[in-house]
Amino acid sequence: MADASVAKPMSSAVGAESIVQIKDLHVGFKVFGGLLKVLNGVNMVVGRGEKIGIVGETGCGKTTTVKSILRILPGEARIFHGEVLFQDKNVYKMHPHELQKLRGQGASMIFQDPTAALNPVFTLGEQISEIISHSGTQPEGKKEAIKILAVKAFREATLPDAERMMETYPFQLSGGMRQRACIAMALATPRDLMIADEPTTNLDVTIQDQVLRLLKNLVDQRGMSLILITHSLGVARETTDRIYIMYAGNMVEVARTAEIFERPLHPYTTGLLSCIPKLTGGGVAEGIPGRIPDYMNPPAGCRFEPRCPKAMERCKKEKPEFVEVGKDHQVACFLYYQVPQNGVQHHG
Ligand code: SF4
Repeated sequence: MADASVAKPMSSAVGAESIVQIKDLHVGFKVFGGLLKVLNGVNMVVGRGEKIGIVGETGCGKTTTVKSILRILPGEARIFHGEVLFQDKNVYKMHPHELQKLRGQGASMIFQDPTAALNPVFTLGEQISEIISHSGTQPEGKKEAIKILAVKAFREATLPDAERMMETYPFQLSGGMRQRACIAMALATPRDLMIADEPTTNLDVTIQDQVLRLLKNLVDQRGMSLILITHSLGVARETTDRIYIMYAGNMVEVARTAEIFERPLHPYTTGLLSCIPKLTGGGVAEGIPGRIPDYMNPPAGCRFEPRCPKAMERCKKEKPEFVEVGKDHQVACFLYYQVPQNGVQHHG
């Protein structure tokens, strides 16, 4: 038996030109009493026009990962190692004008809570106009052109009476309509990437589907890439081309969406899938005993080891890296490092 060669983490861009690459990213948070070691060497690639899901329990580092792309991590965050590239440029070496361009024209983000994302004291028209005028795609002062773009965006986000939306305040809308308004603002000007952080979690179950479908359609029509954060494998299945499974600051498995469901390999992924019948009402982890480790003092080896039914001695001491286990399929688990002499890979 020999160790399988450790796959290059960047090898799974499914043939497409990559728009985002995250390489071995380690991020910690300074807190009273110490350091929370949250991201533990995250690797991720998003291809142009590709729809990616990041699935994992609350607190596993999904939001920290995507905030690192836009360089909007909170002040207490520290990047200890790694790189984040947007269209091959290191986001953390960008000049202020490049960063402004990234946020104004490159990527946009919508959040879980549309109420918090909107400013209650300004009309939707004022807020969307501000975004358009600062995007760099419309010369400032061209009020009429900005208004046309704004109304078009509201209409595309299927908000009723788009003209009237310009004069509407956020409190006058339902939660679903507020999230549609956020989608309109995020897509009012051309972007290459949309990041959606649990965009339907706070919405009524009956409209979650509509909002997801809207988001998917708009992203497809524009040929944009999408990163969708969700704790629900069901939501990711409906919306994405490829899924990254994340656990405690690491990507532990990545594959095409259908493959994740047909051939899940990492013990955490199989645990998540066994929870699916319970998903409708709650989180993903109900069926996996234990909880995410203490980030102040995480396990030295595989972070899933304390909860893993297949843990071995080695798992306590070493961190597993991604290995290729099939086309566009990588797993970070020692079970898949074992390669028999006949060259056939053992899959647990
Ligand atoms: Fe379990 Fe070990 Fe694989 Fe981690 S590396 S998931 S502890 S078998």
